[in-house]
Amino acid sequence: MKVLKFGGTSVGKPERMEMVKELITRDQDSKVVVLSAVSGTTNSLVEIGQALYAKDKAKGKQLIDALYEHYQPFVKSLYKTEEGYSKGKSVVDTRFGVIRGLLEFDFTDREERLLLAQGELISTKLFHHYLEEIGITSRWLPALDFMSVDEDHEPELEKISERLKSIIDAGEQVGIYVTQGYICRNAKGEVDNLKRGGSDYTASLVGAALDAQEVQIWTDIDGMHNNDPRVVDQTRPIAQLNFDEAAELAYFGAKILHPATIRPAQQVGTPVKLLNTMDPDAKGTTISGEAAGSGVKAIAAKDDIIAIKVKSSRMLLAYGFMRKIFEVFEKYRTPIDMITTSEVAVSLTIDDATHLDEIIKELDAFGKVEVDKGQTIVSCVGANIVDEKGLAMKVFDALEEIPVRMISFGGSRNNISILIKMENKVQALQALNKGLFNL
Ligand code: ASP
Ligand code: MG
Repeated sequence: MKVLKFGGTSVGKPERMEMVKELITRDQDSKVVVLSAVSGTTNSLVEIGQALYAKDKAKGKQLIDALYEHYQPFVKSLYKTEEGYSKGKSVVDTRFGVIRGLLEFDFTDREERLLLAQGELISTKLFHHYLEEIGITSRWLPALDFMSVDEDHEPELEKISERLKSIIDAGEQVGIYVTQGYICRNAKGEVDNLKRGGSDYTASLVGAALDAQEVQIWTDIDGMHNNDPRVVDQTRPIAQLNFDEAAELAYFGAKILHPATIRPAQQVGTPVKLLNTMDPDAKGTTISGEAAGSGVKAIAAKDDIIAIKVKSSRMLLAYGFMRKIFEVFEKYRTPIDMITTSEVAVSLTIDDATHLDEIIKELDAFGKVEVDKGQTIVSCVGANIVDEKGLAMKVFDALEEIPVRMISFGGSRNNISILIKMENKVQALQALNKGLFNL
């Protein structure tokens, strides 16, 4: 079994759905096809949710009508037969019936999650009926019947695997199974999701659950690049990465992949391929257990980082100080990314500002607290790069002109991270591209 995931743009227009059909019928391998919502849909649903939270029903209704209108020409052009069209139209009408129904209730986060789930339910049903119309047999698998997370919002891989296998076994055995990315049930059995961009994560979870041969993530770019192609001119795709390298790159800002995607695949050793719908024969990037080559493979950057420094002479020769500081972050469920310490101060970074005020207030008890917003973590990633002679020097040589706020070296063997001001990011990425890759 293979798992093929297509994102919002890949199903964003009727002709793009036809292209997905081409790509999934190129071979006879059995496959699960995981789809995102049609591009723009989840963003619109988020907006509708905001209007309903604000009790602005008129605005909510107007946004719902606009989204509904968006699907009308889509459905008209996707299907060629009267029967296909009426099935597609009824999918859209049914789902918008659910969406409009939310106008009648108090809007809480439970309703919001139900609202956000409609995009993937629409796209996968439309696609399934489209395949049916052109005579390609497929089965539509309801993700809400197998995909689940526990109280800590962690996917329940074993249960997912059991349920998914039994759903597949219980019905007709076909070559193509179509299912929804992103959506799941939570520990209370309510409709929930795997957070924005979570369809990649779904694909990897399905791959692990079925012990698939490989997971393919299809996007609009020819794999993971060695640097951010949005701000650096000369970047190139990386042919091979190992799981750890890919996980660090995704976590530290490579936008192509949801950061949690690698974990399930790594657990069972399923290779993940990043492929390009616009150039299906290009090699893309293969992520697997094997390390390839040496040196820095890629540079990634993560913006909107907040640096927090706690300085206290009481830290001098004291023990237990760090624990107390870390406990504050634990209490507010705020992950820390980078840490550096000296004898009297500790600096660390977070990217989630939700509880920043409370955190600062509690840290105040331990010493003088300084907060710098608007920072960027730039990470240079490659297997075992911390062992490579002269590499750190190359990194810092390249950054000669740029003030560096924090450095993290050796925390992971695969990563050298530096913290700089966001306004210096583009310059830093370009300089590193030259210094490390001669590009
Ligand atoms: N549709 C969801 C989103 O836009 C999930 C995904 O596309 O991965 O975030
Ligand atoms: Mg995505």
